[in-house]
Amino acid sequence: MAPRDPILGLNELFNADKNPAKVNLGVGVYYDDTGKVPLLECVRLAERQVLEQASPRNYLPIDGLPAYDRMAQTLVFGADNSAANEGRVVTLQTLGGTGALKVGADFLRRIVPGAQVWISNPSWENHRALFESAGFTVNTYPYYDPSTHGVDFPGMMKALNEMPAHSIVVLHACCHNPTGVDLTTQQWDEVIAAVRKRALIPFLDIAYQGFGEGLDADALAVRRFAGSEGPLFVSSSFSKSFSLYGERVGALSVVTASSDEAARVLSQLKRVVRTNYSNPPTHGGRIVTSVLTSPDLRALWEQELGQMRERIRTMRNQLVEKIHARVPGTDLSFVARQRGMFSYSGLSKEAVRRLREEFSVYAVDTGRICVAALNSRNIDYVADAIAQVIR
Ligand code: PMP
Repeated sequence: MAPRDPILGLNELFNADKNPAKVNLGVGVYYDDTGKVPLLECVRLAERQVLEQASPRNYLPIDGLPAYDRMAQTLVFGADNSAANEGRVVTLQTLGGTGALKVGADFLRRIVPGAQVWISNPSWENHRALFESAGFTVNTYPYYDPSTHGVDFPGMMKALNEMPAHSIVVLHACCHNPTGVDLTTQQWDEVIAAVRKRALIPFLDIAYQGFGEGLDADALAVRRFAGSEGPLFVSSSFSKSFSLYGERVGALSVVTASSDEAARVLSQLKRVVRTNYSNPPTHGGRIVTSVLTSPDLRALWEQELGQMRERIRTMRNQLVEKIHARVPGTDLSFVARQRGMFSYSGLSKEAVRRLREEFSVYAVDTGRICVAALNSRNIDYVADAIAQVIR
């Protein structure tokens, strides 16, 4: 038997729990204020258009819908990106952000077979497994500092400055999963300088664009990296930003040195896709393309995405205030500074166990909570429960 996925195991426990007040903060998706995964209105309208067109379901090209690839590229790199305008960026529609990471990993394994991979400590748990399954040895670089609830930036820089050339460095472009702690603009500039100086290969994972500060602000790291000389891999995902988890909508972009190199890289990436799943599915890609190419639907999407972002912020602020009101002297203000769906709450393993056993509030053992699972109906209950276990 393969080991169980720890987060799915938590879901099973949650489902079996008969307490009507139970709350699952272990999830990895955005819930709206009614506690449901939303179907965005822009998606509903685009889906209607797609169905009315009733297109035949031929195979898509190996690299996906051309319009999807263009839109996905522009969203991440910006409309006036010089690397993109010079034809140096290739973008392929992939099966979610996971698919983008795997296609990129398989490609890199062919190009730099002797390289090793470095992921943040901690990171999204699938990063390690995914790069290992592509044949790489995976190491970690320091990232989270529990004593400050911030980034161990000196530790991270030291690690970058000691990595062998051509090491592959996986970086969370925004809304770090699981900690919620991101680099500042100045820190990004230092990271970019170190990565380029040591000829490392940056692989930026941007799975939560729009959930931090906004679509453009969240892509800052990608755009600054693209403006520096050297290769760049970017996995992006619409799973969260369109609430289209099950449609598997993502993209892999690679910044190359020339349009000629771009053509060769694309040809190799297509080989990886062709021998893996042949070509991506039609439906989700068509929905995303319809939204992004229609000015009205796009405006609606940005509004709905902004609402998701703001709701998470409100939940962060309220949680901090409510716990402070219940346990004066506690300062969880770092939770309000974190970005994206997740928070390293600082709760100990013992506190997480008590939350689960005494209050039916489920969190990951590391103290990671999904802030997007809080809502106006459960937040007081959760604040009460947390207050009890940290008192
Ligand atoms: N990267 C990170 C950091 C993630 O958190 C996730 C999803 N949880 C992904 C990639 C994968 O996204 P997708 O569901 O689009 O495959």
